[in-house]
Amino acid sequence: MKKYDVLIVGSGLAGVSTALELSKNYKIALITKKKLADSNSYLAQGGINVLKDESDRKTFIEDTLKAGHYKNSLQAVEKMVDSSQDAIKFLIDLGVEFTKKSGKIDYSQEGGHSVARGLHINDEIGKGILDVLYERVRSRSNIEIFEDTPIVDVIVKNGKCYGARSENEVFMSTNVVLATGGLGGLFDKSTNFPHICGDGYAIAIKNGVKLKDISYIQFHPTSLYEEGVDRQFLISESARGEGALLLNHKDERFTDEMKPRDIVANAIQKEMKKEDVDFEYLSMKPLGKDKIPNRFPMIFNELKNKGIDPRYENIPIVPCQHYTMGGIECDIYGRTNLEGLFVVGEAGNVGIHGANRLACNSLLECVVFGRLLADYLNENKFEDKEIDYKITDAKFDKENESKIIFERIREDEKAKSITN
Ligand SMILES: Cc1cc2nc3c(=O)[nH]c(=O)nc-3n(C[C@H](O)[C@H](O)[C@H](O)COP(=O)(O)OP(=O)(O)OC[C@H]3O[C@@H](n4cnc5c(N)ncnc54)[C@H](O)[C@@H]3O)c2cc1C
Repeated sequence: MKKYDVLIVGSGLAGVSTALELSKNYKIALITKKKLADSNSYLAQGGINVLKDESDRKTFIEDTLKAGHYKNSLQAVEKMVDSSQDAIKFLIDLGVEFTKKSGKIDYSQEGGHSVARGLHINDEIGKGILDVLYERVRSRSNIEIFEDTPIVDVIVKNGKCYGARSENEVFMSTNVVLATGGLGGLFDKSTNFPHICGDGYAIAIKNGVKLKDISYIQFHPTSLYEEGVDRQFLISESARGEGALLLNHKDERFTDEMKPRDIVANAIQKEMKKEDVDFEYLSMKPLGKDKIPNRFPMIFNELKNKGIDPRYENIPIVPCQHYTMGGIECDIYGRTNLEGLFVVGEAGNVGIHGANRLACNSLLECVVFGRLLADYLNENKFEDKEIDYKITDAKFDKENESKIIFERIREDEKAKSITN
């Protein structure tokens, strides 16, 4: 049986930011289901928001609340916006380099933003940040990494969390952090990795840990229309920020491309219904022949590999599942209603996104709240207590897990339809 000061389950940006902010005196286990880089954070394309200067504070908060239909927690949103510059400094100090133009940070703009406030690394912000952070995590002697180790449950006794377990191993700790991401893997068509499929939510439900707004699920307007793939390829919203247009089958625009995601996704669905087609188009042609490969090299290459040249052709797109706004209810320090169990990132719901996430806020949430949680544990770690625990043969039952999550989503939808 292994014993740790802190267990972190999940190696996306939320888990890794938490690990790197925790005291170097703590013995930490970073446990992940597949390889370290197999996280949705690594797939992020567009950017991470930052408060550029005080004059943008009110608008940044308002853009986030408006996109979220004012279902957000104002306290959490203010905390995120006010901590954003510090969060970016933390990344830069670790060695992350954001894209610059003529020596100055090049800000990108996505739907729902009144101004350009997204830092980007071409079109691979996730890889750009995490390649640096993973190297840092690997070099910390107090962090032990467990890859290919799906956690199936937490260990609870007398209303307290004492650790977590995989099918074969037990990890004891009185401070367990779930950073297991969202539930996209449960959907037939999602931009998410299939293995990121709501495990944290299933664990929470099984142990009486509260979820909040789990039916708030985001559909991204522009995933590439293709069949028979594990994961739908995303064409970043920042392409629209740079001038890409949405077109129907008559080559006509039918919506404002820069509205928040839910509005644009609905407009596409409506147009598809009207035209009785399975997809609409995104045209990157307005960006110009040179800008497309320069500003979006990964997207350009990926589309070319799939036989589409976005310099000359329209790209068939369709909305698909992308992000989970709801999640395990927590406060700004990641505390849940179960003592010793914490949550951060997409797995949690601290109230940042309300009913619809504003683009580029989720990476920022991971860094800001991962660090807040770590700082809290640096001050207030629950002390280790010995408990008797024997591994039983409880198995991870994916079919049943997805059933209980969908049941909970339906219950949440029903409760909302009654109160609205
Ligand atoms: C294609 C794409 C593009 C995106 N672009 C942007 C963007 O430009 N800007 C932005 O802000 N956001 C973007 N997002 C959203 C963002 O990347 C993530 O949603 C967010 O970073 C979530 O991070 P996380 O650390 O909470 O979870 P994730 O990064 O999803 O990581 C979850 C981790 O938990 C592990 N895990 C899951 N279950 C278990 C288990 N049972 N046991 C052990 N480990 C487990 C997974 O293996 C993984 O390591 C994008 C998302 C996608 C999919």
